[in-house]
Amino acid sequence: MTKRNLETNAAGHLTFGGCDTVALAEKYGTPLYVMDGDQIESNMQTCMQAMAQHFASYKVFYASKAMITKAICKMAKKNGLHLDVVSGGELYVALQAGFPGERISMHGNVKTPQELEMALTNHVTLVADSLDELGDIEAMAQKLGMRAKVMLRITPGIEAHTHEYIQTGTYDCKFAVGIVDGQAMQGIKTIIASNEMDFMGIHCHIGSQILSDEPYDPAGVRMAEFALEVEKETGVRVPEIVMGGGFGIHYAGDEIPKPISAYIQKMADGLNRVYQKAGVPVPTISIEPGRRIVGEAGLTLYTIYTRKEKPGIRTFVSVDGGMADNPRVTLYQAEYEAVLAARPLAPAEETVRLSGRCCESGDVLIYDLQMPVAHKGEVLAVFATGAYNFSMASNYNKLPVPPVVLVSKGRDALMVRGQSLADMVRLDEVPAWVEED
Ligand SMILES: *Cc1c(COP(=O)(O)O)cnc(C)c1O
Repeated sequence: MTKRNLETNAAGHLTFGGCDTVALAEKYGTPLYVMDGDQIESNMQTCMQAMAQHFASYKVFYASKAMITKAICKMAKKNGLHLDVVSGGELYVALQAGFPGERISMHGNVKTPQELEMALTNHVTLVADSLDELGDIEAMAQKLGMRAKVMLRITPGIEAHTHEYIQTGTYDCKFAVGIVDGQAMQGIKTIIASNEMDFMGIHCHIGSQILSDEPYDPAGVRMAEFALEVEKETGVRVPEIVMGGGFGIHYAGDEIPKPISAYIQKMADGLNRVYQKAGVPVPTISIEPGRRIVGEAGLTLYTIYTRKEKPGIRTFVSVDGGMADNPRVTLYQAEYEAVLAARPLAPAEETVRLSGRCCESGDVLIYDLQMPVAHKGEVLAVFATGAYNFSMASNYNKLPVPPVVLVSKGRDALMVRGQSLADMVRLDEVPAWVEED
């Protein structure tokens, strides 16, 4: 708990985006997601600048699945980013925020006819994930009398060291088509030959929460080599290579990721080497950061309710949230750090298991949290919850999804209202035969 820069005010309270976190908890209640808008926009700019240093033509797509709200879409638009969506729902939010469809890509391994239609009519680029899907896209384009902008997602076959569930660049994974088995080349030929599809480029995404910059060099090499193979075999230039996201953030302990510039440098090294050797100009290069944009720009505030000592075993400290607002610990043993909002610098006195309130023994937020002995009612801040928390939240145990507050230079305002108890039954229907008098 030494690497993180904590900001405090005169009262000694933890501040975030210039706001007193104890006061935020009082004003909005807990659990509460807090997002620092200035950090989000500065992370967007850092990515844009790193790309500008290495590539004549580039795009930065914000991978909206990490955390999507209308306000965040507007920040992405304002900072010149493009947007990635994986569903009609994410696309709907982006369009509602006024994000231009021409600057959106839709990926994912399943796209329903409704989603394809919504994407095509809004001029969204489709990142096809299988050969099967190319037929669906072609049929929908034909039905609508439109041309589809299509990329193909391929597996470069790079092993990135991250949790198995979020590793996506290897061959034995549900995403993408392989280069080695010829399906990638076959798919591209299908797109090029089609009257309904325009070939927009190739796409890869090698995993998530990747702490080392190393895998991006061979991934760049593999993608560039394949792009040149495509050009040789089809005579058609690959106009864009999307290198995906996956850039890690600091969650806990000593696992500190590389600066974004280091990842982009490695990627550029790999790509440029191959293109230079071939004497061909580098096409448009794109990245798709999600976690890196919003992860550390968020924290979650909870209230401490119970402290239970099980003699000879351990002490459990339980808060008013848990796997419903942050399923990442239960899902893939994610690690977090936390402090007491009113006394973030107080020395640790004990090691506790920080538990959530859901009816699952696995509902843990932090397995071994070193902290001062906390009093009932104290506010606890868990760091780096900006990515894949709100977006993965559920209503398990009928817990309403907490509100999201945006902070900036001491200002605070709701970005998403919290659900109410009435929202818990808003969509319920009681079939007539169940009704009894
Ligand atoms: C999830 C995903 C991303 C973003 O991943 P992060 O680890 O959040 O940067 C980018 N591209 C694709 C295709 C994805 O599926």
